[in-house]
Amino acid sequence: MLQLRDVVKSYEGKSTVTALGGVSFSIAAGEMVAIMGPSGSGKSTLLNLMGGLDVPTSGQVLVAGSDLALESEKGRSLFRRTHVSYIFQAYHLMPTLRVRQNVALPLRLAGMGAKEAELRVERALAEVGLEKRGDHLPDELSGGERQRVAIARALVTEAPLLLADEPTGNLDSARGREILALLRSIHARRGTTIVMVTHDRDAASACDRLILLRDGRVEEDGAVPGVTR
Ligand code: ADP
Ligand code: ADP
Repeated sequence: MLQLRDVVKSYEGKSTVTALGGVSFSIAAGEMVAIMGPSGSGKSTLLNLMGGLDVPTSGQVLVAGSDLALESEKGRSLFRRTHVSYIFQAYHLMPTLRVRQNVALPLRLAGMGAKEAELRVERALAEVGLEKRGDHLPDELSGGERQRVAIARALVTEAPLLLADEPTGNLDSARGREILALLRSIHARRGTTIVMVTHDRDAASACDRLILLRDGRVEEDGAVPGVTR
């Protein structure tokens, strides 16, 4: 599904910062992986490369056989729209749009007609348990519900890869666990590959594999300690 080969990412500025200093790993289709590490260890940089938002300074980011590093901006944009969906710590919902319209947004932007989009939206809302909330505005929902709207919005495109940036970061632990249970059930039901950057031990425990970064390198890569599945 996704393979990183000796990926280096440096940011040029007054001085050069090497955010990733040679990272290699593969993620198979259908895996659920947590990426952890101290602040500044390169987690966001890694997520941006896997999402085709940025390109490495050297090395390869192979997705379904093609190297994102060699793709044009246009090619990567297509990849982002068709292969990847995202959820964030702060949900990133449009405050003036109803839940239903928020969830439909990626489909409408991709040019899908209102009728077909509506069907997918209703299905996704049911999948996250929000079929009764379609007409609400994001402000009228709790944090956990907002994250579920964001997850529904990630589901509608049916992208095979879901990238999550601190998906439980703004939630109390009970609400966080609900979101993790939901992500696991989506993973089980749809076979979606999920990669999440997190500081939350519960979130890591919901995953099958933990990649630990330190100073831009993979320090550990394996089973999540204490989790048997
Ligand atoms: P994390 O997500 O683990 O906190 P980041 O990937 O954000 O780590 O950052 C890794 C390193 O790269 C840090 O030293 C950070 O300051 C630096 N960095 C990240 N993004 C940029 C950027 N756009 N320009 C310059 N330096 C950056
Ligand atoms: P397009 O060029 O198709 O319009 P964008 O460049 O707008 O695509 O990116 C799609 C969306 O994904 C944007 O809202 C962007 O901010 C978001 N995004 C957030 N994090 C990532 C990531 N790690 N990788 C790729 N896209 C990301």
